[in-house]
Amino acid sequence: MYDLLLIRYGEIGTKGKNRHVFEQRLQANIQAALAGLGVQEVERAHARLYVPLKENLEEMTNRLQRVFGISSFSPVRRVPLDFEAIKEGAIEVMGSSLWEKEPLSDSPGKLTFKVDTRRANKGFPMTSPEVSRELGAVLLKEFPQLSVDVHEPQMTLEVEIREQYSYVSTERIPGPGGLPVGVSGKAVLLLSGGIDSPVAGYRMMKRGVAPVAVHFHSSPFTSERSKEKVLDLARILASYGGPIPVHVVHFTEIQKAINQHCPGKLMITIMRRMMLRIAEMIAEQVGAGALITGESLGQVASQTMESIQATNAVVELPVFRPLIGADKMEIIDLAQRIGTYKLSIQPYEDCCTIFVPRHPETHPKLPEVERAEAKLAAKELLEEALERTQVIICGEN
Ligand code: ATP
Ligand code: MG
Repeated sequence: MYDLLLIRYGEIGTKGKNRHVFEQRLQANIQAALAGLGVQEVERAHARLYVPLKENLEEMTNRLQRVFGISSFSPVRRVPLDFEAIKEGAIEVMGSSLWEKEPLSDSPGKLTFKVDTRRANKGFPMTSPEVSRELGAVLLKEFPQLSVDVHEPQMTLEVEIREQYSYVSTERIPGPGGLPVGVSGKAVLLLSGGIDSPVAGYRMMKRGVAPVAVHFHSSPFTSERSKEKVLDLARILASYGGPIPVHVVHFTEIQKAINQHCPGKLMITIMRRMMLRIAEMIAEQVGAGALITGESLGQVASQTMESIQATNAVVELPVFRPLIGADKMEIIDLAQRIGTYKLSIQPYEDCCTIFVPRHPETHPKLPEVERAEAKLAAKELLEEALERTQVIICGEN
């Protein structure tokens, strides 16, 4: 009955001159998301995208609901620009939807509906209200189980009259919104195995950022499994925007050196500073314009204003902290919805949990931190860690 999916996008329609860049990216991202489903081409015309529909509506729906930039989509029947053709299409589409919804119902007026018409093609001879009114009358006559309710209908038959064709559907599936991954550029995501950083990554992907992940690993104190867990988290994120390179940095020597030469209460602050420095070096290698962390103000000792100031001071790139104002419950809620929560709470050791003192400084003073850090051969340590970095692409089929 349906032959296409009609895809609508919201916010990217407002980007003026850059609009075609957004549209092309969205088109490419949709094409990539549907790989393996036999979609030859994603068609783009006048603020809509079209994908041929085969037997696989459910799988397509699952995948499209993860493509940022899509505001909604509908399985549609494509008909010519002609009221008679629209009428036939509407009867057919409504007939099958009713059959799916209430196969055995014939009680008159039981199901409420309305017709919603959008006429982008002003050359079409009837106005939108005229089309809605006339179609409404036709459908009422054809299907006695229907009655009209324009305020809270149980079903809406939508008609879009566009440049070359008209489209008829009874279903509008919400997309994830946001901007197509890639249009905002690249950023380096500091990805731990915890709950927060995957959610932070997701949030920035939703704003069009393509993440390159960095994970600090402290083998042999942290296990191979703890690394696998992070790669699995990256794979989940990749299902929202395509393959993600994960740079796994060997952090053990740096931690040992800090443990040996710096006061215990400043250990976490100095560790964080080293992490950000390495992340910035990787950003330079890959051409990323920002760093992303999962920090949330006040959550732990290393996330007070003073701690954030002390760590932020070592980098020049902007550090995006999309969760800074979020409560743990809100973060957990989002983690559950995007599918990372169950994996995040699996108990594997993290590099931050080893060597860590019981009473970390919650209000580190920058000069004191800098003095303590001066005891480290920071440059050599950073270079060595970078050299021992392994890059794993996650989410490639
Ligand atoms: P998360 O749940 O993201 O691990 P958290 O609440 O445990 O966060 P911290 O351990 O203080 O908080 O880490 C703060 C941020 O530092 C993390 O959100 C992450 O961006 C980064 N980070 C911490 N540990 C690592 C690591 N081993 N590798 C990469 N990034 C890390
Ligand atoms: Mg953590």
